[in-house]
Amino acid sequence: MTINHATAAEKFNKDFDRTTWHDETLWWVRQKRDRAAFSIPEWEKLRDTASQIKHNVLSNLDTYLVEFEKNAQKNGITVHWAADAHEHNEIILSILKKQGVTQIVKSKSMLTEECHLNPYLAENGVEVVDTDLGERIVQLADEPPSHIVLPCIHWKKEEIGVLFHKHLGTPEGCADPTLLTHAARENLREKFLTRRVAITGVNFAVAETGEFVVCTNEGNADMGAHLADVHIACMGIEKIIPQRAHLGVFLRLLARSATGQPITTYSSHFAKPRAGQEMHLVLVDNGRTTQLGREEFRNSLKCIRCGACMNTCPVYRRSGGHSYHNAVAGPIGSILAPNLDMTKNADLPFASTLCGSCSNVCPVKINIHEQLYEWRQVLTKSGHSPTAKTLGMKAMAAVLSNPSVYRLSGKMGRLALANVPFVVNNSLNPWYKQREMPEPPKESFGEWYKKNRG
Ligand code: SF4
Repeated sequence: MTINHATAAEKFNKDFDRTTWHDETLWWVRQKRDRAAFSIPEWEKLRDTASQIKHNVLSNLDTYLVEFEKNAQKNGITVHWAADAHEHNEIILSILKKQGVTQIVKSKSMLTEECHLNPYLAENGVEVVDTDLGERIVQLADEPPSHIVLPCIHWKKEEIGVLFHKHLGTPEGCADPTLLTHAARENLREKFLTRRVAITGVNFAVAETGEFVVCTNEGNADMGAHLADVHIACMGIEKIIPQRAHLGVFLRLLARSATGQPITTYSSHFAKPRAGQEMHLVLVDNGRTTQLGREEFRNSLKCIRCGACMNTCPVYRRSGGHSYHNAVAGPIGSILAPNLDMTKNADLPFASTLCGSCSNVCPVKINIHEQLYEWRQVLTKSGHSPTAKTLGMKAMAAVLSNPSVYRLSGKMGRLALANVPFVVNNSLNPWYKQREMPEPPKESFGEWYKKNRG
């Protein structure tokens, strides 16, 4: 059973040092992003342009997808279409079966996380080795990533040292990042050299050329794809951009927003398979066309997965990525997840202060906090919020919409707080868990105003 965000966040918060350090580390990334963004005078223009390009893409998605497919096929890429996660996984398994392969390498792809590809392939006898260092760490720890750009941001180097000692044979007590990275590299090198199939994600797919672009800082996607006989790339259908010239806008925004770098270390263009190689591309819907049809949430498909909204979110920073129980965590994940499953993910749009910091940093100008607020209304109206909350809100609406009832309730509340405070200040009241209730005033503001200014 999935535990809800508040319960999972409470568990994360029990480790006070980790919560503080997680919060500070992500805020440091956010500050790096600010410095990188503000060093470019045309930053806001870039954001506007990116948002408009994506608006055009979403308005003409069918046309661009068909154009991309045609050009990719012309280049020699085999294009597959998957309606949902299951179809995506089946397509990949069928390619692997045809190749007679049971061991593969995979670079970072949040789409394959969304589709639960690794467990599916494991059930079918295929071993997947994740080659992004952060992903490899969480894979060895048998955990999902907690952040879309920094998958093991919740792990300390000392803990990684223990993990690597157990799995990779590094010296006991070694927590030196350089040594640990060398150990991972050495271990991965053998996998790169021996695996015949490599899976990568896709950051951008260019309709006019049929090429796709994969961005990594470690070069692991390139190592996998260049050494393998078969390259399978998986992409959500929203990753299309119309022209190669548009990459200049998105590549400048992506790295700066994600990590504060001017450019990702490797922005690799894959246009066609090299001689003797097979290249497959799986285009995945998995709820995206449903979201496209929800007018108020359509903008969420502009997301380029930079992670900036997570790094700035005061709730994400203090609750950790796993508390969102979804492949994509944080503010944008909380908009995307209810589209996939309203019942399972009804708690997520409420995991926000609605401060709007996410919308302020988003490189493609998604109105994230407004959509979170909108989801709350949709979920409540469709009966997906908890009964206690629905009843509480109804009671509150009745009190706030009637001045006499409001005045009477205020009076009773003040009396209760003054004379029987335990009615409110008890462990059953979640608000009281981390807060002292205030001293009740003797009179309401309305009463004071009437007496002194009336
Ligand atoms: S919603 Fe915006 S800020 Fe968040 S990951 Fe997507 S592009 Fe980045």
